[in-house]
Amino acid sequence: MGMTLFDSPSFANHEAVHAVHDERTGLRAIIAVHSTARGPAVGGTRMWNYGTATEALEDVLRLSRGMSYKNAVADLEMGGGKSVIIGDSRTQKSPELFQAFGRCLDRLGGYYYAADDVGVSVADMAEARKVTPFVLGLNDGPEASGDPSPVTAEGVYRSTLAVARRLYNQDDLTGLTVAVQGIGHVGGYLADKLHKAGAKLILTDVNTALLSEVAGRTGGEIVAPDAIYDVQADIYAPCALGATLNPETLDRLKVKAVVGAANNQLATADIGQQLFDRGILYAPDYVVNGGGIINVASELKARETGGSYDPTWVETKLSRLMETLEEVLERSASEGRPTHEIADAIAEARIGEAQAQRSV
Ligand code: NAD
Repeated sequence: MGMTLFDSPSFANHEAVHAVHDERTGLRAIIAVHSTARGPAVGGTRMWNYGTATEALEDVLRLSRGMSYKNAVADLEMGGGKSVIIGDSRTQKSPELFQAFGRCLDRLGGYYYAADDVGVSVADMAEARKVTPFVLGLNDGPEASGDPSPVTAEGVYRSTLAVARRLYNQDDLTGLTVAVQGIGHVGGYLADKLHKAGAKLILTDVNTALLSEVAGRTGGEIVAPDAIYDVQADIYAPCALGATLNPETLDRLKVKAVVGAANNQLATADIGQQLFDRGILYAPDYVVNGGGIINVASELKARETGGSYDPTWVETKLSRLMETLEEVLERSASEGRPTHEIADAIAEARIGEAQAQRSV
């Protein structure tokens, strides 16, 4: 007998998993809600051409749980969820498809809010928004939070400063070299901030035009995409792809720390332990890059209060997140445990606390 959904390790006590379908548009999607203990579940919608529904399910469950942790660690009054639309984002998109998806969201009545993610644009989500209010990350309207990348980059930058303080006992980045992988939305802003703070940059991207532009204005040295793991630098800043911390790259990295924007940097959890054993300080990705979700959360806040986008609220949350990062780094050092474990423990404690309060 095959394993059932409830036995899958990825299920991890999810509150609900919805498989949704629309006959007319051919929509097939899975909406996973890991936890609403801290508030409505919030997490993006990914469109991907999964080989099987099982693959889609595994992906959405893993990502949904991750959102619970990210939202809790950022101390947002939001739970965690995620959704995946099964299909080719280059050929199978239509306004009707996203409106059908919006109707599915609407039926859930606001215990899950969607936003754009891989394969899904703000314009796609605007179609869903036509039929439901349960969509965030929009460009229009008074509460719209717009592009989260500048806030994400600011969080990554402050995390880099926190790590530099801890490792080198200095308040800026003078004399330090940072290897930035991917200089897109977040990496571009980050490169400018690091440069201003005195860091020497080594840059890579597959987009060579962008690369010479950013290198030009920051004085960064350009290397080929695969060479970024071998460079002599103090800090590696992954800002392109996930899973770049893996057995193959671990043996190549010469850095003292990893601080970057990419999601899911650890290929597997044991890589976090290996980084720790090698004395490489890993600033946990979902703490470092939480500025983005804070920016999105401001939209939900504005909705609830009838207010508009509030940069002061965003700044308060970002500062608090950076305090949590300090706590993670401090406890990792004092308890002799890898940083990713400490971050998970903090998130789990916050979710558990909210859960306990809810059931009384
Ligand atoms: P982006 O697409 O704007 O930038 C990614 C850059 O990486 C692009 O310039 C791309 O050309 C480059 N790239 C792709 N493959 C590469 C490779 N093999 N080697 C080197 N460069 C490569 O994306 P973004 O919004 O800047 O996000 C970057 C990362 O941060 C992503 O992993 C994303 O999930 C994560 N993240 C982003 C935000 C946000 O606010 N945008 C928030 C949280 C996490």
